[in-house]
Amino acid sequence: MNMEETVRVRYAPSPTGEPHVGNIRTALFNWLYARHVGGKFILRIEDTDVTREVKGAVGAILDSLRWLGLDWDEGPEVGGPYGPYFQSQRLELYQAFAQQLVDEGYAYPCYCSPQRLEEMRAEQRRRREPPRYDRRCRNLSLKEREALAAGVEKPVIRFKTPLEGDTIFHDLVHGDVTFTNAALDDFILLKSDGYPTYHLANVVDDHFMKISHVLRADEWLASTPRHCLLYQALSWDPPQFVHLPMILGSDRAKLSKRHGATATTEYKKQGYLPQAMVNFLALLGWSLDDKTELLDRKELVRHFSLERIGKTAAIFNLEKLRWLNGVYLRGLSIEELVKRTLPFLEAGLPSIVARPLSKGYVSQIMPLIQERMRTLAEAVELADFFFIDELDYDASLLKVKNISTDVSGQALIASRDRIAALSTFAAGALEGVLRPLAGEMGLKTGQLFGLLRVAVTGRTAAPPLFETMAVLGRERCLKRLEVALTKMENLS
Ligand code: GLU
Repeated sequence: MNMEETVRVRYAPSPTGEPHVGNIRTALFNWLYARHVGGKFILRIEDTDVTREVKGAVGAILDSLRWLGLDWDEGPEVGGPYGPYFQSQRLELYQAFAQQLVDEGYAYPCYCSPQRLEEMRAEQRRRREPPRYDRRCRNLSLKEREALAAGVEKPVIRFKTPLEGDTIFHDLVHGDVTFTNAALDDFILLKSDGYPTYHLANVVDDHFMKISHVLRADEWLASTPRHCLLYQALSWDPPQFVHLPMILGSDRAKLSKRHGATATTEYKKQGYLPQAMVNFLALLGWSLDDKTELLDRKELVRHFSLERIGKTAAIFNLEKLRWLNGVYLRGLSIEELVKRTLPFLEAGLPSIVARPLSKGYVSQIMPLIQERMRTLAEAVELADFFFIDELDYDASLLKVKNISTDVSGQALIASRDRIAALSTFAAGALEGVLRPLAGEMGLKTGQLFGLLRVAVTGRTAAPPLFETMAVLGRERCLKRLEVALTKMENLS
């Protein structure tokens, strides 16, 4: 078999809201497989549930895919030979096959009213039976049908699920999977408004779009026997099924808002890099060798394989994502880092900071915080003291353990004088005059540097002191030392 020509996979989201990260994992696995074998990645919008459709959701899906660099070969915007790629534009096709199934005895119109179905379900609940259609319309005579058709609005079309036997299919992850037909109900193919259900539309489209492999989340495994019965009834070959493991939160509960953001775009807003996200999502249910954590897009495409998709649930570990993001942030050039961080600083710094920010100044700051950043948004808290003139910190931070405020005050004055007298204001020169000062004043370097750090940054943990001072510049540093001296006067 020539893989290059035959592998066609699809991502088939329903536009019911912002795409969930778990759902985008499905898109990524399909994309990786297509790119690995040189096949085609198709994007199909499953918009047949009008009641659940959310405005703007298609745009959010496309944006998420674009953000992660998951380009599609066929689908919205790019078109393709098997379109349209919106199910709402293919209704006639589904209706024709629903009719064919009725004509051939594989399906039947059901005239039961919503009220009747509700009463039936209430009765089933009361008897503690699983809710399912009681097949009242399955064996109606033509005459009965005609009589009913005259009375009600349009019927739904239901599939005539075999009452006996098993449906067995092979899943590339789960192996042979068996479902007892008696446990499946006569599911709806076409709703009374003429829209297909997921089952019918999905099967018809996978067939006509020549999908070779269906990679989708485990939650669809239970739908697959229904799809297989439909393929049989339509005399079509089913695709290969590949059900991807569930994604759980770190407490092993189904991934939800409680575990952090669920919308993919939220990660973009929080300052995660697409390359980190791709790396992270690829490891949710797939691994190269159970230990390699760092794999960039190229390596993922090179190594991705269906064989290494796991069966057991994957854990969404936010700490690991933060770590990976830190790794990818450190790999960026300063220029790139500045470009990506600037919008976060513009948006996150308090309004008293004058805009636009100076790109040159930001370029000096970034090397000092790059090591410590886990997200682009974190640059704001790591670097705000570079931008805010009046630092708001508690005077008690200026207290040095075992040192009187008198001595600390003198140390600040001496530092100020040395800084003022420097001919070049640079990190090396600053260190050259301040390091010896500690000894001269009977202080440990850690004590003096700690004091200076609070005075110039307003915090006890900050980037390397002398580099920080050099970037702040002489004027700012001197001013901050004065402010610290005043604050110290109020300390007892
Ligand atoms: N429309 C379904 C979803 O939203 C597609 C499931 C499938 O891939 O078959 O996930």
